Amino acid sequence: MHRPNFYNQYKPGLAPENPGDRPERWLVFSDMLLLTRMAQTGPEIPDQMVLATFTDSPQGHLYLGEYRGEDYYCLAIPGGATAPAGYAFSHLRALGTDFPYDLFMLAGRASQILHWDSQSRFCGRCGAPTRMKDDERAKVCDTCGNLIFPRISPAIIIAIIRDGQILLAHNKNFRAGMHSVVAGFMEPGETFEDTARREVFEEVGIKIGSIRYFASQPWPFPDSLMIGLFGEYESGEIQVDGIEIESAGWYLRDELPEIPDTTSIAGRMIRWYIDHPDPMAALADR
Ligand SMILES: [Zn+2]
Repeated sequence: MHRPNFYNQYKPGLAPENPGDRPERWLVFSDMLLLTRMAQTGPEIPDQMVLATFTDSPQGHLYLGEYRGEDYYCLAIPGGATAPAGYAFSHLRALGTDFPYDLFMLAGRASQILHWDSQSRFCGRCGAPTRMKDDERAKVCDTCGNLIFPRISPAIIIAIIRDGQILLAHNKNFRAGMHSVVAGFMEPGETFEDTARREVFEEVGIKIGSIRYFASQPWPFPDSLMIGLFGEYESGEIQVDGIEIESAGWYLRDELPEIPDTTSIAGRMIRWYIDHPDPMAALADR
């Protein structure tokens, strides 16, 4: 997956400068499945003409911003909708490495914002209906003043290295044979490092020493942010929790089991390990 500097070309916004001036692209979700068409040039997002096959006046749509001279909107329609000819509803994860990085970022943002929109119709403090704020991406309760921002749930994902081997685990939610690095959600009050040490100990029973930052990735299923770290093995023997993790082991580069593709940060981290004899030192040298 190619990663251009997306934010050089994407201008986030809450409303278009001059509505109707630019071509429009619509990120349409049904049951959080995205409407796309596989064109000869690659996956395509519908324009306003295709949108018109659904509705003349879309309800509850949100503006996302301008990208490469086009205005992007997102819209949730009822589950089970029939796709227009040539189009299909697909899970973002299933679109795979052929789906361009910029579209994945825009569609992920759209999915997260639509999810937040659907979860924040009413104030969690007083129960009154909320409304969209017009000067920032937030909702406000006019009854009690409560502000509700889109929720982002940070999670740590960590590759543990021991004498040139990497720790890979089979999570009970994975398909048979699939292995990946260990991950877990942050708890209030934790630093990235605290979460990494706690999760690794809870899930596989080992202690880690030094930790290095790899990269981060928004993961809109529904609202995670993955923070990728590498950690050095310190002590302990693998003892899986048996709840989240079914099995785990140390693997060498040339004997890896099935691993995730590079749409996920996990897949990119494992490839970093494969490509670098000393992956932690290589991170320091970047
Ligand atoms: Zn309220």
